[in-house]
Amino acid sequence: MSFYYSIASGSSGNCALWQAGDTAVLIDLGVSVRALNQALRRIDMQVEDLSAVLLTHEHVDHTKGLATFTKKYDLPVYATFGTAAAILQKLPQAQKNLRTFAGGERFTVDDLQIQSMPVSHDAAEPVAYRIDGGGHQLGYVTDTGFLPEQVQKQVSGCDTIVLESNHDVDMLRTGPYPMYLKQRIRGKYGHLSNEDCARGAQELAKAGAKRLVLAHLSDKNNNPLTALRCTQRVLDGSDCELYVAPRSAMEEPIPLTEEGRQCSMFD
Ligand SMILES: [Zn+2]
Ligand SMILES: [Zn+2]
Repeated sequence: MSFYYSIASGSSGNCALWQAGDTAVLIDLGVSVRALNQALRRIDMQVEDLSAVLLTHEHVDHTKGLATFTKKYDLPVYATFGTAAAILQKLPQAQKNLRTFAGGERFTVDDLQIQSMPVSHDAAEPVAYRIDGGGHQLGYVTDTGFLPEQVQKQVSGCDTIVLESNHDVDMLRTGPYPMYLKQRIRGKYGHLSNEDCARGAQELAKAGAKRLVLAHLSDKNNNPLTALRCTQRVLDGSDCELYVAPRSAMEEPIPLTEEGRQCSMFD
């Protein structure tokens, strides 16, 4: 069975499970090991069933669980050279788990081919991923100030896309954040807005995406309905299913089948 399971999404933590055919990998580890184990138990899985963890970058909302995780488990953790160096400064014990690569490099994890893609974010060497294998393709793109053309091209044709829909531009402008933070978020090295997401989604749906998961929603500068409406508008007439990743674990994974639910929200 193949599925996508969002365990946490947003500025307080990011972690997702991709199972395609016989291979399961985690993308990011921004939850405690306890929360991870709880989420895995809900779907009758455990850490031992995973083949690897893929990190997008070192920010704490993507690596929070790493200290305990690397103490308890020997599972490989893939990270770019830059991300690994940033992690090792604070967490030398992670060395035994870390497998490094350059942003843009391609590698394999069991049956899965992983293509990494540099993105534009205020981290050491952040990446997005395309994962091929088990008859499915996942494009995973969060934490980027804009959608680089190369990334858009490389995830084009994936059946499943996870795309950042971080903030509503007006909510951010009028919201409670200090000016420097507002500038960071909407800047070139920040996060994708709902409108950025919708623009990318429209092209990806045309290229055959079957399901699209809006991810990394801001708690203060967005809400699930606003994000959903923004992208839904541009998907009218396409048969791409639209989901919003909740802040904590999804009730149930999204199965990678032909028939799914339309416009689902899990929280
Ligand atoms: Zn980040
Ligand atoms: Zn983040």
